[in-house]
Amino acid sequence: MSSGEGSAGGVLPEFRNEGYADFSDPATLRAANEALGSVRAQFGCQYDLLVAGRRVHTGNRLRSLNPSHPAEVVGVHSRADAALANEAVEAAWRFFPIWAATPAQARIEMLQRAAAILRRRKFEFDAWLVVEAGKTWPEAEADVSEAIDFCDYYALQMTKLAHPPELVQLPGENDEMVYVPLGPGVIIPPWNFPLAILVGMTAAALVTGNTVVIKPSSDTPTIAQKFAEVLIEAGFPGESFSLLVGSGSEIGDLLVQHRRTRFVSFTGSRDVGLRINELASKPQMGQVWIRRVIAEMGGKDAIVVDAGADLDAAVNGVLVSAFGYQGQKCSACSRAIVDEAVYDAFLEKLIGKVAGIRVGPSEDPANYMGPVINEGARRNILAYIETGRSEGRLLAGGGPGDGDGYFVRPAVIADVAPDARIFREEIFGPVLAVTKARDFDHALELANATEYGLTGAVYATDRRKLQKAREQFFVGNLYFNRKCTGAMVGAHPFGGFNMSGTDSKAGGPDYLLQFVQGKAIAEKTA
Ligand code: NAP
Repeated sequence: MSSGEGSAGGVLPEFRNEGYADFSDPATLRAANEALGSVRAQFGCQYDLLVAGRRVHTGNRLRSLNPSHPAEVVGVHSRADAALANEAVEAAWRFFPIWAATPAQARIEMLQRAAAILRRRKFEFDAWLVVEAGKTWPEAEADVSEAIDFCDYYALQMTKLAHPPELVQLPGENDEMVYVPLGPGVIIPPWNFPLAILVGMTAAALVTGNTVVIKPSSDTPTIAQKFAEVLIEAGFPGESFSLLVGSGSEIGDLLVQHRRTRFVSFTGSRDVGLRINELASKPQMGQVWIRRVIAEMGGKDAIVVDAGADLDAAVNGVLVSAFGYQGQKCSACSRAIVDEAVYDAFLEKLIGKVAGIRVGPSEDPANYMGPVINEGARRNILAYIETGRSEGRLLAGGGPGDGDGYFVRPAVIADVAPDARIFREEIFGPVLAVTKARDFDHALELANATEYGLTGAVYATDRRKLQKAREQFFVGNLYFNRKCTGAMVGAHPFGGFNMSGTDSKAGGPDYLLQFVQGKAIAEKTA
């Protein structure tokens, strides 16, 4: 990323994406395993809720499990009820004027400190992601690196937002615009990027001067607790945020509909996102604003493989996009749409590679795939594979993996028609539907035949075809001759079209604008 200048004249540090550790290096792996040891030593610890700086212990408990070894309890968490949810929003409302008046530079420095703390504790956070989210080491490292990137990048963007570009100056007037925070917000992340997305949404809201109530996913509350430690160590006042572990169905509606809730920043499934959007749109007694909803939702992402594509590159791109983190990414490739001229050759190469994928406990670096997040997810994915057997040809996978974890073998289902359920519905697991296209135009038509519009990729060498995809492939994040996962902060602002959400473009230069409102001020001077 390029460097920028604040109007104060100071040159901002250049943004650089955080590098990834290499887990094939024995020294790195040793350090990672040491971190894993200290994380394991904390298994079963009890965690309180944090309500505006106050630790709250409740009798109602939520246990988070290690999906590779579900008998292992990673953390035991107090669970919030309606009264605590209400208290947290009221506290966020009370502290908002103080936090909004805190100089932007102070908030920026806190966020930079949070990035530095995450960097220092990187292997430890990697290890928490391995044991609570079932990520392999490289996937965990990418998640933690992205979290660091969000802190650094939003700190930089806030510096720019604090010094907006000059307006047209009318004769005899001083004309300016400033950005002011919105108010108390609710942050609702998913479990699949339990650190990066949680951190990104929280950092953006806090650095722009909003107070927040964070409701983490019930599958990954320990990672959220660890990030709360980072916020406190970085100097964020206890009252600037609350951390409410609790079921979305129990406290979600209350948080969203609370009359003091000014905005909701949500990432998760289409159905929950639509519900939040609907509930948030209804004003409550005493509410004086239109509540803002930033909702990033599901995907049914396709990779198009053209007749002239580099087939080996395409096979690798599809493989990594479909089965990395067990297919549990909103950006995962769940549909490969392949020109009939190379369809059979593509399938042959793909199946050969899928057969070599090792599935097992995520802490073992020999495993490319770990478990899916929980038993419900595994049941759902296996049911989709059964449906797929009747909707196409199951060429690989199709059953649970060995061991006590929630393992699913990567499934490839060929000859899938565009009206099939496995072509249309988000499965969120390691299931790839492969569909034959007559030609490139047909392939684009098939790729767009979905209510979602998050990511997509095209493998082709013909520039005219790439240009056509640029114009017609209707997704928020389009990639050429590379995988459709792995968006990088700063380079690939992230967010989708249609039922994939509000296209907020996380990690992009405009993202923070969603957490503020502009105030134009004109003063007559002559
Ligand atoms: P989810 O079931 O929609 O849950 C997301 C969050 O919403 C969780 O914290 C959940 O809490 C909470 N929630 C559930 N019901 C709620 C309610 N009525 N009110 C308020 N909050 C509620 O999604 P997920 O299974 O965690 O994540 C997977 C989904 O996220 C997939 O669809 C994936 O595509 C999408 N995703 C999208 C993006 C993107 O950038 N577009 C990125 C990552 C993931 P509980 O855990 O307590 O239920």
